[in-house]
Amino acid sequence: MKSTAKSELFRELPSVDELVRTSAVAPLAATYGLAAVTDAARSVLARLREEISSEHLDESALRIALNGMGAAIEKELQGTLGYSLRPVINATGVILHTNLGRAPLSETAFTHIQEVAGEFSNLEFDLETGARGKRDVHVDRLFRQLLGESGGRAVSTIAVNNNAAAVLLALNSLAEGGEAIVSRGELVEIGGSFRIPDVMAKSGATLREVGTTNRTRVSDYESAINERTRLLLRVHRSNFEITGFTEQPSTKDLVALAEKRGIPLMEDLGSGALVDLRNFGISGEPSVLDSLHAGVGIVTYSGDKLLGGPQAGLISGREDLVARMRANSLFRALRVDKLIYAALEATLLAYVKRDYDAIPTLHMMRLTKEEIGGRAETLAKSVNAVHVTQPATASHAASNQKPGIKAEVIDGESVIGGGAAPSSVLPTRLLALSRDGLSADQLAERLRANDPPIIARVEEGRVMLDLRTVFAHQDPTIAAALSRIAS
Ligand SMILES: *Cc1c(COP(=O)(O)O)cnc(C)c1O
Repeated sequence: MKSTAKSELFRELPSVDELVRTSAVAPLAATYGLAAVTDAARSVLARLREEISSEHLDESALRIALNGMGAAIEKELQGTLGYSLRPVINATGVILHTNLGRAPLSETAFTHIQEVAGEFSNLEFDLETGARGKRDVHVDRLFRQLLGESGGRAVSTIAVNNNAAAVLLALNSLAEGGEAIVSRGELVEIGGSFRIPDVMAKSGATLREVGTTNRTRVSDYESAINERTRLLLRVHRSNFEITGFTEQPSTKDLVALAEKRGIPLMEDLGSGALVDLRNFGISGEPSVLDSLHAGVGIVTYSGDKLLGGPQAGLISGREDLVARMRANSLFRALRVDKLIYAALEATLLAYVKRDYDAIPTLHMMRLTKEEIGGRAETLAKSVNAVHVTQPATASHAASNQKPGIKAEVIDGESVIGGGAAPSSVLPTRLLALSRDGLSADQLAERLRANDPPIIARVEEGRVMLDLRTVFAHQDPTIAAALSRIAS
């Protein structure tokens, strides 16, 4: 009985060709092309066939489905032909949010990418001699300007894929087959399963742990040095702090030990600021220059953290040490593309010009609580206005009030993120939102469903928007989304 019913249902299904020629589907070809529409029609039909097989569709449900074929195919097309990687509005107040792509690029960075990437370029071509050139010259010259000399020696810089790759390349070049000494207080894991001991193992260097979690002295490093020691390694505690009964040798003391024993000192800074962040009210984040000036031989840091550029790993330091990395075949495997050089070059030029506001992450760090508060108040007013003037609210009985969004501006804190200055927060003003009939999580979900998605924080039962990380030109988009959700 059932199988007869099933085969009858199957017979109701049109063929792909018939379906594509129906008046509901045919016009889609003008927008998406016939090939894509045919593929989408095939997928939608296959899904219906599956649902009939598994008896999830009866006769009346199939009718409804067949009437909605145009919409179903268009939805399928939007799903397959739309981008998966999309821009979002970051209202979390976390400036360097790894899940949201870390640093947004400066305008000059993406115009330079566009210039260089859409045409041929002199990536590895010396225009003067007409001979083969090196791709790293394009940024090395700017790093030389920014980092100058360290201890009378010129500083060289090379770029690889990310900082994890920079650490791998540096350890492999300097300590493969030997030992690298590192403090037990610095054997860190940074999100995304970057663990110093694991990277060390892959690099072929043996980890020689010294000291304890909370206290390590210069003498601990010194007594661990033996004929196999190739490197002293210091790792910046990016995402945590050890407080209380603690001791860590100063960089100066480690430099002195490294020089005395003729062993290079490397520091994995992680974030690596190119400017002194104390100027922006942020303390506790050492800059690349601080380390180089103190005499650290090699410093590794990310391109898309405090530097505010594209994803990259940068290795700056003594020319002789960097030359060993450049000569390592791993460097070839980890090298970066012309798009990255273009973005890096443009970002570094902003530093050379001291045009810090051109770099979005630095600009966001520099915004004052008052500037952010002013924008939040404007948004709050527009949101609360929707609540008050809503005609449905006035005409309905008080017991049946149509819910609007309640907005309030309160004090809060933004964080830098990206493993920078873990204890350093920036005072901000937050737009705190709630809506009757929706939990904070549901409201946050509605915001994520917006196009573009708006990513917020949920705190104390409310949705919090921190406009520090929202570009000012996006404020009206947020206002429009909130008024849609309110009504
Ligand atoms: C972030 C970080 C890394 C990893 O850098 P990526 O650029 O994400 O690969 C390594 N070390 C430290 C100390 C970090 O903070």
